[in-house]
Amino acid sequence: MGIRGLKNIRDEYDVIVIGAGLGGLTCANMLARRGNTVLLLEHHTLLGGLAAYFRRKKHIFDVALHGFPVGMKKTCRKYWNRDISDRIVPLTGIRFDNPQFQLETDYTKESFIKILIEKFGVPQEAVAEFFEHTRRMNFYDGDNSTTRELFQKFFPGREDVWRLLMEPITYANGSTLDDPAISYGIVFSNFMDKGVYTFRGGTDLLMKMMEEELLKSGVDIRTKVLVEKITMENGRVTGVMANGEHIRTRAVVSNANLKRTVLEMLDEEAVPADFRKQTEKLRVNNSSCQVYIGISENEKIDFIGDLLFTSTAEKFSENLMLDKNVTSRTFSVYYPSIRPEHNRYAIVSSSNARYEDWSGLTEQQYRADKEHLAEDTLDHLEKYVPGIRKKIDHLEVATPLTFKYYTRHIGGASFGTKFEGLEISNRLPERIPGLFFTGSVGIIMSGWLGAANYGVIVSNNVERFLKNSNG
Ligand SMILES: Cc1cc2nc3c(=O)[nH]c(=O)nc-3n(C[C@H](O)[C@H](O)[C@H](O)COP(=O)(O)OP(=O)(O)OC[C@H]3O[C@@H](n4cnc5c(N)ncnc54)[C@H](O)[C@@H]3O)c2cc1C
Repeated sequence: MGIRGLKNIRDEYDVIVIGAGLGGLTCANMLARRGNTVLLLEHHTLLGGLAAYFRRKKHIFDVALHGFPVGMKKTCRKYWNRDISDRIVPLTGIRFDNPQFQLETDYTKESFIKILIEKFGVPQEAVAEFFEHTRRMNFYDGDNSTTRELFQKFFPGREDVWRLLMEPITYANGSTLDDPAISYGIVFSNFMDKGVYTFRGGTDLLMKMMEEELLKSGVDIRTKVLVEKITMENGRVTGVMANGEHIRTRAVVSNANLKRTVLEMLDEEAVPADFRKQTEKLRVNNSSCQVYIGISENEKIDFIGDLLFTSTAEKFSENLMLDKNVTSRTFSVYYPSIRPEHNRYAIVSSSNARYEDWSGLTEQQYRADKEHLAEDTLDHLEKYVPGIRKKIDHLEVATPLTFKYYTRHIGGASFGTKFEGLEISNRLPERIPGLFFTGSVGIIMSGWLGAANYGVIVSNNVERFLKNSNG
């Protein structure tokens, strides 16, 4: 996988991409395909960023492969290759289980409409209007309303309906009822069309296939390389300092954390004061905890659904979803069909989490809290997989500190920055000529599809910059 360290690289590149998350990978691939010399630098040993996987004993665990919209199929076909695209398949069993309702859906529009009308008793016209309204929502409309106001308008006082519509999105990207309705509408419409999809073969295979494609496109990939600084001369980007060496380039695309890029990787005097201030105020998204459960070789799990959104909270509450005393968990179940040759079951439990709740603990307390989370998770899983403890071969917990360690995101943010990050990201090349950002910002550019699509958009901007600059 890649080549470690800075061996055999050019003296100068057209573009250096910092970070091999889905945004950085896609951007690098597009730029190299168009004939630019591209160096991709990743501090970790593996490509993927948050789209990560890891091996333990004979298990392979996927960190962020729970589901994405069908649009990922087209994105992969156009900007990667057909083999990758063809492996994107639908998930069929998505279950909700909470004190307000229990239901199963394939997450298609048809299924949701039926559930809203038949199970929740919402008038057909209100459902139709809601779907039409969210479908028409456009980022450039300048609509300032919140998701709460959107729900209040179409489903007044129906907290059970709000929960159905909001809880999976809050799980998926930490967004709240007070975030802009427009971001909710776009994400909802993306998902709520043809259901939720996954990658057959797992994240390890996807990254292998992406690496092959990057090499074919001519990208120089180097892992275990930490970019420390972005260098500038005469008001424009000239290179990066990485593993103590200076590498020259005409443009830099950062897929590292947006705040870190602006506030830590550039010299202070290189950043206009107003832009610095704006970036300092930028909020990062919340983080996650996960419990990875490897099932013994000879054990089986009956089909209990692919994705289980479970909660013991009486009502939907974003605060409770972030609470260290976990009430809401999403169980992702990986059956052997995801990796047919591997023939193993695994379950990953994910919950939203606050970095502050996990940082600053003593080593002993941190370990005890992780153990408590693991045990509590198994207690809950028992309801869906009776006798789960006897079936387990491996158990491991990730906290916000784990996410920070592997990706260097401030606060171990799972979904980059809040909505206002998009403006900062878009304005970055105006304020720091030659520097671009791609990766999770806001909700729209987050997740596998959002990050990959943003990589394409930014590659077009970089291409334009390179053509227009004579340096
Ligand atoms: C628990 C969890 C579950 C998720 N589930 C889903 C899901 O089911 N569906 C979905 O669509 N999305 C999911 N996501 C979100 C999705 O994985 C991310 O939004 C997406 O992968 C982020 O891509 P990115 O381009 O922003 O880069 P990131 O993945 O954030 O990668 C950034 C990369 O930059 C590297 N880097 C940082 N600093 C430096 C530096 N100085 N030098 C070199 N390299 C550096 C990091 O190591 C990392 O590889 C999940 C995320 C989490 C945490």
